[in-house]
Amino acid sequence: MLVLWYAAGTNYPGRGSVVRRKRWFAYALREGQTAMPPSMRMLIEYKPFDPAFQDSSDMNTNPPRSSCLNFFAACVLLVLCCKPACALDGVEQDPRFIAIADTYRADFGGSVKAWGTNSAAAAAGYQVTPLATEHLSNATDMFIWIEDELKRYPAGFIKKYGPKNVVLSNTFITNSSKGSATPYSPTFTSEPSSSSLLVTVPTTLTPSTEVLGRTSLHQAIFNYLLNGIDSTDAPIASKHWKTIETANNGSAAEARPWVFQQSNQRDGLYKMLWDPFECVALDANAKTDPLLKQRIEVVQSFMHALDPQFDGAFWATIATIPESQRTVCRNDLTDVHCADRIAADTEIQNDLRVIQDKWQLKVICTPGSPAPPMPAKVRLEYSYMTDKKLPQFKQFVHLVREELCSYPDEIVSQMNVESIYIMDDFMFRGAKVAGQAFTWLPKVAFGYGLSSFDPSSESSSEFFKRTIHHELFHLMDKRLSVEGGPICEANWTHMNEGSFGYRLGQQPVVDQPTFYKDNSTRRGFAERYGMNVATEDRASIYGRMMTEDPLFMKQLETDAILNAKTEAIFAFFDGIKKDLNIKSSNAFYTKLETIKAKVRSTTKRRAADPDTGGGAGGK
Ligand SMILES: [Zn+2]
Repeated sequence: MLVLWYAAGTNYPGRGSVVRRKRWFAYALREGQTAMPPSMRMLIEYKPFDPAFQDSSDMNTNPPRSSCLNFFAACVLLVLCCKPACALDGVEQDPRFIAIADTYRADFGGSVKAWGTNSAAAAAGYQVTPLATEHLSNATDMFIWIEDELKRYPAGFIKKYGPKNVVLSNTFITNSSKGSATPYSPTFTSEPSSSSLLVTVPTTLTPSTEVLGRTSLHQAIFNYLLNGIDSTDAPIASKHWKTIETANNGSAAEARPWVFQQSNQRDGLYKMLWDPFECVALDANAKTDPLLKQRIEVVQSFMHALDPQFDGAFWATIATIPESQRTVCRNDLTDVHCADRIAADTEIQNDLRVIQDKWQLKVICTPGSPAPPMPAKVRLEYSYMTDKKLPQFKQFVHLVREELCSYPDEIVSQMNVESIYIMDDFMFRGAKVAGQAFTWLPKVAFGYGLSSFDPSSESSSEFFKRTIHHELFHLMDKRLSVEGGPICEANWTHMNEGSFGYRLGQQPVVDQPTFYKDNSTRRGFAERYGMNVATEDRASIYGRMMTEDPLFMKQLETDAILNAKTEAIFAFFDGIKKDLNIKSSNAFYTKLETIKAKVRSTTKRRAADPDTGGGAGGK
């Protein structure tokens, strides 16, 4: 027999939440109950009228209500504890599900259900894989950010206008969806006919599920609200909306296709309002697109009409970029002399000039310059070099000059590089970045972060040299690789072992925590990093190859796949040489030939070794 005696609650008002305490009690008791053998009994002593149990001042001012609440809580507990004989199973009885549902009800007033119990109407149009207990930890994780997103709405709004039911399943596939291999299950779907929001809890949660899910949640909420419009003449109704869509013609639309496409849809535009970065794009476009400006106003006044809390100040707050997603400059911009010695150093300035002249680009390296153009909305911290690290900067610029200027003019002229950012700090998502190629820009750029550069260390110089070639290869890969060529996607991936798939290249994208461990004995990779995606595979091999990395050269002796990939890169450069009419006497190609000869001598060693199956016969 297990006897539990609960002394009480809180002694001061405001110290606890009756709702939460009830939930915690229920959760804790269930955990205990689950662990008990069937023969065991649990008795609970709980005194609803014990003075110490209650918020004493509340007791004084409002005894009946307070007592009723406590008595109610006590009854709930008794009911819960009297239930063991029923052996309730099913996902809705799992304490994790109960916790989700209780929290949601307390915060937004709606009920959370697993598909199958009370949702026949909602599910009529879908093929559903029900929620199972193994999905519950994902459901718990999802509800953390679902609650976060819904709490961004004005107080009481979701309770009043939001869906009454939140229905969870593992997948909701619309009956009309035509069968691809893995049919797409939207994360959130509005089902106003049954006052429901259908929520997919996927078997695997990835960071991208969350990012996409957050915006999809707002879109679904908005579609739910749209269903409540009773007049077809309302400005938000589709009849009027069609008259304020921006037509897809002219150069302005070409320059901003995604803003334009999303904002032409009512729910697409609404979704963008919840993303501070997309808000920036919307505002910028609205300056030259009066119809877009009108559409924003229509959506915002629709919300304002439902709830006056959706005012200008509200939208401004929503559009504010949170700290975790900010771009932060680490330079002290009040110190105007911080880079004087760099500016006055003739060697540095000469190296910079040589790079700029040869590549027809701009080196961005002085404090106060703009941030590098990183793609994602994740915290970026950067700083430019100051006099404090003059020697490091000097050596680094020299290294960059030597490596970059070793490339033939014929290749350089094809690259169309706009700028190179040479930074001190370069932190993205809190991790140091040594090099980055911004190949998605119309005129590409490179960035280097040399905070960890140590000119006195051989390995540090080698690392950065490798990084310079690695990033440059991304560019050549993008600009000069052709369909059917030696390093094109089809020919390249074909060289890998049949069972291998790149971590980021697989469909569907799955976070596989043991990926590197599972692939630790794979052949064909110069760096583990190359297993992420084919472009990194090539760039990492190229970087090692160009710096004649000893470990890499050693690896070539036994690794036939790595050898074949290296040969493909040589063939790629041979093709470029032919296409661009580059002379064999060119210094870069002479260097490449030397490396090729070294690589091939390792190949011979491999062929001569009977253990690796090459056979020792022949001439
Ligand atoms: Zn790379």
